[in-house]
Amino acid sequence: MSNGPAAPANETAHITNFIRNAIDADLAKGKYAQRTWGGAPGPAEKHLNQPRDSANIRTRFPPEPNGYLHFGHAKSILLNFGLAKDYGGICHLRFDDTNPEKEEQEFVDSIIDAMLWLGCDWNANGTEHLYFASDYFDWMYDFAETLIEHGDAYVDSQSAEEMRANRGTLTEPGKNSPFRDRSVDENLTLFREMRDGKHAEGSHVLRAKIDMASGNINLRDPAIYRVKHAHHHRAGDKWHIYPMYTYAHPIEDALENITHSICTLEFEDQRPFYDWLLEKLAQHGKLQRPLPQQIEFSRLNLTYIITSKRYLKQLVDEKHVEGWDDPRMPTLVGARRRGYTPAGFQLMADRVGVSKQNSWIEFTVLEDCMREVMNESCERRVAVLDPLKLIVTNYPEDQSEECLAPNHPLKAELGKRAMPFSRELWIEREDFQEVPAKGYFRLFPGNQVRLKYGFVVKCTGCEKDAAGNVIAVHCEYSPDSKSGTPGADNYKTKGVIHWVSAAHAYTCEVRLFDRLFKTPHPGKESGNYLADLNPNSKQVITAQLEPSLKSSKPEDRFQFERHGYFVADRKDSKDGAPVFNRAVTLRDAWKV
Ligand code: ATP
Ligand code: MG
Repeated sequence: MSNGPAAPANETAHITNFIRNAIDADLAKGKYAQRTWGGAPGPAEKHLNQPRDSANIRTRFPPEPNGYLHFGHAKSILLNFGLAKDYGGICHLRFDDTNPEKEEQEFVDSIIDAMLWLGCDWNANGTEHLYFASDYFDWMYDFAETLIEHGDAYVDSQSAEEMRANRGTLTEPGKNSPFRDRSVDENLTLFREMRDGKHAEGSHVLRAKIDMASGNINLRDPAIYRVKHAHHHRAGDKWHIYPMYTYAHPIEDALENITHSICTLEFEDQRPFYDWLLEKLAQHGKLQRPLPQQIEFSRLNLTYIITSKRYLKQLVDEKHVEGWDDPRMPTLVGARRRGYTPAGFQLMADRVGVSKQNSWIEFTVLEDCMREVMNESCERRVAVLDPLKLIVTNYPEDQSEECLAPNHPLKAELGKRAMPFSRELWIEREDFQEVPAKGYFRLFPGNQVRLKYGFVVKCTGCEKDAAGNVIAVHCEYSPDSKSGTPGADNYKTKGVIHWVSAAHAYTCEVRLFDRLFKTPHPGKESGNYLADLNPNSKQVITAQLEPSLKSSKPEDRFQFERHGYFVADRKDSKDGAPVFNRAVTLRDAWKV
């Protein structure tokens, strides 16, 4: 059976929903129990007299390889693979590559990569259920001839304008094409000539013959094949006609034995054609019953991001970001570099659920899911992002010692690590105030604080440069106050600050990312989404990290205490010299 993405530890309950209800009802009736499976996709004859399909249900994720996957796709992916896993089914990855001009191998590779990262597995019982719709072109063509032979399709030679004019409107019926009653022979001849490249683009289309007066415009003899003299990334120059998406998609589902074809709401009006087409092809003996059924759900809309491929491409092309995998991009390759986790996406998918209502989800919902998952899974480390020197004047210059810090406050089993302590330390600039504000408990002259996992120190003053900027803080430590020793309890301090030994620190590039857009609906008010770019979405700093971080491997994630969750960048990190990206802060800084 296929393995969907691993469920996060803290949220496995599946709230039932209308899709699950439909599947439950189908399984209870045994609707799909008798289906057979010929080992690979194909028409009825291929599945005939073959063993029962071992998959209780089959779902699919059908991306068009014309761009990178984004956060919205993650929802659809996790839904389809998750359902297959829960019901003892199989989810196929199918590239919907029937449109010859826009598709590229680069996108195929990146989609596979992103889906593997999300934890999807399309292997089951030794078969890889990875398919390309373009591999079905011969069957699609054969089915079209079948429709023609049965009087269910005809070649229309009206111009595009005539066709548009005769389509009618929502309130008026359409008009029959003058070519609607062509004989089967004439239709077949013309269609074969179209196939053989004998006709110009736009001169003829093949249309399903349904009802020009239908209340559903999608049933007014929709086009199913068009002439296109285009090179296809897999099929080469074999074809001069290409199927329309609305014709191709139901057939792809049926050839693959898909039981539940889950798609977004905008396809709801296409469902009658989906059913009409598959019913005809089943009647004509081309497809096995029971036929797949289309079920629609609302797409994921998140505030503060855009997912339109055109706009994302513009961001890349005009260099508003550094590429499709820029950690600020709402692409899955971007999310991966950013440090977001597959489990975080799964948690969000579970939390948001599925519905029939289009709505907006706050971006914080995604961020909170990432925080929750990483709070649980990430080890803690210490990093000073805005370093200021702290000199422990009564600590010997040539000495150092180890302090023990737990790797996870809630998971003792993850053990402790040693952090070197010495006379000169780095602390955060904001942890010292020469003249303390009201309620400030951290370092100021005369005050005592605990250096977390280390000693209690008392501030004795500071050094300044000619311009009056503080360049170092001085303090004295109490040797009997070390954390973890019996003396530690004798000290009570209100302030606790973190630190890194200057002599041992790993000086490191750290990128602090924030939202790419500063408004929840980019472009909505301003009319131009580029005007809503957040000018401070990326800040590069030089930070001082505890030495153990130097050996981090790409994609190692940590909580930097007090700062947030960080990942060693998978692209720019070198062996022994990782650079870190901030995935998300500890708390939501955008809350009003
Ligand atoms: P296009 O604008 O090119 O159609 P697309 O985002 O629909 O782009 P596809 O590759 O066609 O991209 O989408 C693959 C699958 O992902 C489809 O089944 C689609 O319904 C689903 N999908 C796309 N966007 C979302 C979204 N925001 N939420 C949920 N599912 C989505
Ligand atoms: Mg699409």
